[in-house]
Amino acid sequence: MKEQLVETIRLYNQKGWSPATSTNYSYREDDQIWVTRSGVDKAQITLVDFITVNQNAKSIDEFIGIKPSAETQIHCDIYSLFPDVTVILHGHGKYPVLASSRFEHSIEFEGFEIQKGFIGQTTHESKVRIPIFDNNQDMRFFSEQLELRKDELVNACFVIRKHGTYAWGKNLVEAKRHLETLDYLCECWWEENR
Ligand SMILES: [Zn+2]
Repeated sequence: MKEQLVETIRLYNQKGWSPATSTNYSYREDDQIWVTRSGVDKAQITLVDFITVNQNAKSIDEFIGIKPSAETQIHCDIYSLFPDVTVILHGHGKYPVLASSRFEHSIEFEGFEIQKGFIGQTTHESKVRIPIFDNNQDMRFFSEQLELRKDELVNACFVIRKHGTYAWGKNLVEAKRHLETLDYLCECWWEENR
């Protein structure tokens, strides 16, 4: 799992989804959350760049003293809301960032074949709504918002306004599919509507 996740992170960096050491990624194994440490150039990420954190996003075990990024709490919240999730990917792709400033509550897509990339979507004909959250630095407020809007997270992803995307899955393949589907849809929307 870890090797493939590192490979994915490097690939996403090549796509321009993690400029300037931004973004973070995590996986859960045996009830233990592993997250990328803060400040790593994602073009250079290796297997040793993951640290273990507790449910409050504090580093634990041999990693005590290493400060995880503030966004780590979002990973912990998603794991807590969805017990079968094992991988969370966070991207800073520019199309979701651009599109997020044109919608209020959620981004809507309709009629795109790739909508079926989201778990539970069986036809391109339905309307898919991906929630947008404001980019709030107050992590406690953010956690509350996530919990309040849990029912909107049926497509296993969301957008933070002018910031980026989060997507998750029961395994890496599923999490990747969700992130890539969302990014592709945002790109199509932006090209069509800018
Ligand atoms: Zn971010």
